[in-house]
Amino acid sequence: MVEGETTVSERTLVLIKPDGVARGLVGDVIGRIERKGLTIVAMDLRTLDADTAKAHYAEHSSKPFFDSLVEFITSGPLVAMVVEGPRAIEAFRGLAGLTDPVKAAPGTIRGDHALEIGENIVHGSDAPESASREIKIFFPDRF
Ligand code: GDP
Ligand code: MG
Repeated sequence: MVEGETTVSERTLVLIKPDGVARGLVGDVIGRIERKGLTIVAMDLRTLDADTAKAHYAEHSSKPFFDSLVEFITSGPLVAMVVEGPRAIEAFRGLAGLTDPVKAAPGTIRGDHALEIGENIVHGSDAPESASREIKIFFPDRF
């Protein structure tokens, strides 16, 4: 590390969405998180109700794909995790790849495993404010 730089640990909310669980990719995603050096500090397999899904995706409520997003994310069990480490938000977004899995680079989770934007395997918070908001939705008693 360059002298004078500080490595502040941060937390991000990661979801392995229902497509990732149904396709047996939980181990692959967790392996990538662990090999990167990030730490899983909370994890739960659960099926979301519509209200929780709408709260999580509130920023997209006016988008044309919102209803299908809520329907998909509630369609089966997902794995919710809180992942911690230096620049964890950016680090996990890098592992995930671009939102559109066809544009996502090979070597990323989405680039390696998906073709449809609506079924792109994982979610990762995009900023400290959204991470904090999302972690409170999924793990209200833990953080
Ligand atoms: P992310 O932060 O990379 O997950 O992407 P966004 O926050 O922009 O969007 C949230 C999720 O909505 C994405 O992961 C996609 O699954 C889905 N999504 C985003 N854009 C579209 C779209 O244009 N069409 C559809 N069907 N789904 C979309
Ligand atoms: Mg997002």
